[in-house]
Amino acid sequence: MLSRRFTFFAVLSLLVFIVSTALGVRSFWASDRLARISQRKGALALDSNSGVLYLIKTGDNQSPWSPGWYLQTRPTRLDVAKMSTHDFLGFQFRGDDPLFHTRFIGIPFWFPAVLGAIAPCIWYVRRVRLRRIALGLCVSCCHDLRGCTDECCPNCGKLIPRPAGALDDGLGLRVDMDGSLRELPP
Ligand SMILES: [Zn+2]
Repeated sequence: MLSRRFTFFAVLSLLVFIVSTALGVRSFWASDRLARISQRKGALALDSNSGVLYLIKTGDNQSPWSPGWYLQTRPTRLDVAKMSTHDFLGFQFRGDDPLFHTRFIGIPFWFPAVLGAIAPCIWYVRRVRLRRIALGLCVSCCHDLRGCTDECCPNCGKLIPRPAGALDDGLGLRVDMDGSLRELPP
């Protein structure tokens, strides 16, 4: 197997990708809001709306609700984005102002989704590469290199890594002839 720590990180990243994508898609027709109303009737809220996750803070005496926690779902309206003073690729910001006293930052769901997809992609590419080397195939074109003594793949010209059986990928991993990957002893 690939290093356990990296595999664990890749699985966590995959979860971030799945949750961000699911919440992002959902936020286009249902806006979820987790809010805490303070004793002074100011609100601190996490709000998913039209592909963006907002952290919103309002001034005192602005909330019609009594103090406490609220979880609310309502149909999505484009009301939050209209209030932003800065908008770049879905990243939004609104500073304090004397009239509304509502501040927020918005992070588009695509951002954690893209970040979360990186590690699983690297994991998959490394897995495929090590598997091909272990099976005696060219990492680039899958040409059968068993018995081949050349330095480069005769099919695509790609440099052939050190022979399968004792391959160290530089990250403490080793490919054995049976195709299994093992961690090298330190
Ligand atoms: Zn090749």
